[in-house]
Amino acid sequence: MAWWGFPRYVSKAEKQARAANKLERLKKKRDVKPVILQGSAIARSWWGKSWNKNLEAYADYSNRIGRGRSYVRHGAVLDLQIEPGKITALVQGSRSKPYEIVIQIGKLNRKIWQHIATSCSGMLESVSELVSGKFPKELGELFLQRGAGLFPSPKEIDFTCSCPDWASMCKHVAAALYGVGARLDEDATLLFTLRGVDMADLVGKTVSSKADNLLEMASKKSSRVIQDADLSALFGIDLSAGEKQAAIPGEYKRKKQAVRKKSVKANKLRSNPEKMKAKSPKSVRSGTAVKPGTPAKKRRKQI
Ligand SMILES: [Zn+2]
Repeated sequence: MAWWGFPRYVSKAEKQARAANKLERLKKKRDVKPVILQGSAIARSWWGKSWNKNLEAYADYSNRIGRGRSYVRHGAVLDLQIEPGKITALVQGSRSKPYEIVIQIGKLNRKIWQHIATSCSGMLESVSELVSGKFPKELGELFLQRGAGLFPSPKEIDFTCSCPDWASMCKHVAAALYGVGARLDEDATLLFTLRGVDMADLVGKTVSSKADNLLEMASKKSSRVIQDADLSALFGIDLSAGEKQAAIPGEYKRKKQAVRKKSVKANKLRSNPEKMKAKSPKSVRSGTAVKPGTPAKKRRKQI
């Protein structure tokens, strides 16, 4: 600070050098993840740009968030960590010690997430398609929808900074928020981590949410059997006896084993006609061929 009370002018190069110097010292002490831009653009991917666009769209932020751009550009975000519902950052300001920033982001509302997942049903084939931002335009619009998309609104964002000016978004908080945009260029999955949702929920779904609900209900039952009524409702068919067996693996297996035992018994008896006569003339008649693979009911009829 100069003697007449104005801060001394610090050039961009000087700020860059100071940040780089501090970063080197920090790296020796702990595992830091600095925000390093590739070129002059803060964000290049669909996800990074959309993150920034979302923040800039809100009147509450539009006047202040711009102050963070130059900080990100000269490498002042020395560390940025993203975890579920929380962003922590270290930003180099005018003081020697970097400022500590904590930003809490509300987890995505379940109803909004379900609506997004249903809207994506059958429209995305893989997580990589989603991560690369190469998806139908209407999905992009849905993701960006204010208050109903994937990106947080100001009421879902709370922040603190160790500087004296944090109450109304200081440069350091703004820089950390822009840093998230840059970080999403490298790894878009972090947005889903931050919002506490699993991006796999949006991919490869061809069944309706009704079917999902039924399957979820079935998995919650103590018995792992999916009830016939549920299956009928799910597939819109009236299940025959055979299909019911297929839907109840345990029972079907037991019946199959019983059939196999009977078949072995019958073969043994056929190879010994004397024993066969003595055993049961009604159940097994000599000379009657049983076609292999014939269902138990038919076998009995043939016999
Ligand atoms: Zn601050």
